[in-house]
Amino acid sequence: MIPDGMGPAAVTLARSYWGELVMDQILVGSASVASTNYHIPDSAATATAIATGVNTFNRAIAVDDERRPLLTLIESAEKNGMLTGLVVTSPIQHATPAAFTAHVDHRDKYRQIAAQQLEQGVDLMLGGGAKYLAAGPVTDEDIAANDLVTAMALPDQPDILWYPDLYQKAKEAGYQLITTRAELAQARLPVLGIFARDWLTAPLDRLHGDEDDEPDLAEMTRFALDRLAGNDQSFVLLIEGSTIDSAGHYYDPGWLVHDVREFDQALSVALDFARQREDTLLVAMTDHETGGLSLGRMLRDEQVGEKDYSRDWNLDILRRQKATVMGMLKQIRQGGNPVDVFVENTGITTIYPDQKKSLMGIPGMDLDDEDIEEDAMRVIGAVLSSHVKVDWTTRFHTAVDVGVYAYGPGAERFAGYHPNWQIGRMIAELMNLPVAGTGAGREQFAIDQSGKPSKPLE
Ligand SMILES: [Zn+2]
Repeated sequence: MIPDGMGPAAVTLARSYWGELVMDQILVGSASVASTNYHIPDSAATATAIATGVNTFNRAIAVDDERRPLLTLIESAEKNGMLTGLVVTSPIQHATPAAFTAHVDHRDKYRQIAAQQLEQGVDLMLGGGAKYLAAGPVTDEDIAANDLVTAMALPDQPDILWYPDLYQKAKEAGYQLITTRAELAQARLPVLGIFARDWLTAPLDRLHGDEDDEPDLAEMTRFALDRLAGNDQSFVLLIEGSTIDSAGHYYDPGWLVHDVREFDQALSVALDFARQREDTLLVAMTDHETGGLSLGRMLRDEQVGEKDYSRDWNLDILRRQKATVMGMLKQIRQGGNPVDVFVENTGITTIYPDQKKSLMGIPGMDLDDEDIEEDAMRVIGAVLSSHVKVDWTTRFHTAVDVGVYAYGPGAERFAGYHPNWQIGRMIAELMNLPVAGTGAGREQFAIDQSGKPSKPLE
């Protein structure tokens, strides 16, 4: 299980809000997360390290520094007759699940990842990402990402490049296609459940929003365990709480605590499953911390009338918060006055002039530009965080060590400190599954998509 972007401070903040977490019961060690080219890794490099036991460069999806494909845990499980599954709240083509099921030299090649995933024989894939499976024209973004391997010219208009309908391909491969929570209950394997065009809705927004058709992470986990354990086959299941990372990228402590809670509930489902049997190893670890959340904020005597040294974070605000910064931005884009939207969703009424000014600047931003849209969320997040009295050091990730959680046969091996790729190797060894990082050496196990011996990607 991977709670994407959940660093130690996120766990502390969430525990202060919810009380003891289920994951606290099985904390056994810590892991470092550096990739081969940066102290501060991205999700692609870290997921590759966990999936293959080989450390690699930022942006790499299950390829090594020489861009050779690396056999992953899920591929190895498939080759050895096990059942496999992916359960995520991001697009299933996003870096973490991709690194277990595809091989490309850059995580942004989503269309190529989507096509490869359907050839792996994964028995269960649940998450978002419909936009990478549906037929559609090649966009400027796709060209910038050099994601053209699966594009074709239209027969009647050879100048127009088009992506084929991968849903059709999935159907031909035998997948049952589902798109709603209601359909989940009746689904059989193999199943492709895509519940959102892009990402699934963050738990905090689902809590206060309209009832939607998306299942939550615990629900998907329960379903996956039920179906994968339904016969005598062994299985490997990857479960990711994907949007913890987003909360950190956009400086939203309320979003964060609800997302950590959602992950913890899914972990609880998995732990209950493992406790009822004696044959199931559960390992959870974060891929990296996001946002540099710091739980202590006294930089200057800012906007607080007293000079005490407690400066504790304010849980009351988080308890009142009704929408994530993404939800608030959506309301602003629909014409809401930014300050009113902020007050309505946070209950904070004392907003200082500089904060008012930055909030009121949002409607004038070019919100159709994805990077600027993210900046706008950070504007809201920064104002919110200053009132909650937490702070963030970076809009990206950090290099801080993360917690390792384990339960079941072999769990004791994860005690103490390990680099993240070592955790990947240990999981594979305990399951008797070769991955690129175990056994006689990676050359022996490296493969390409057709099963031929490894060679660098073009
Ligand atoms: Zn990540």
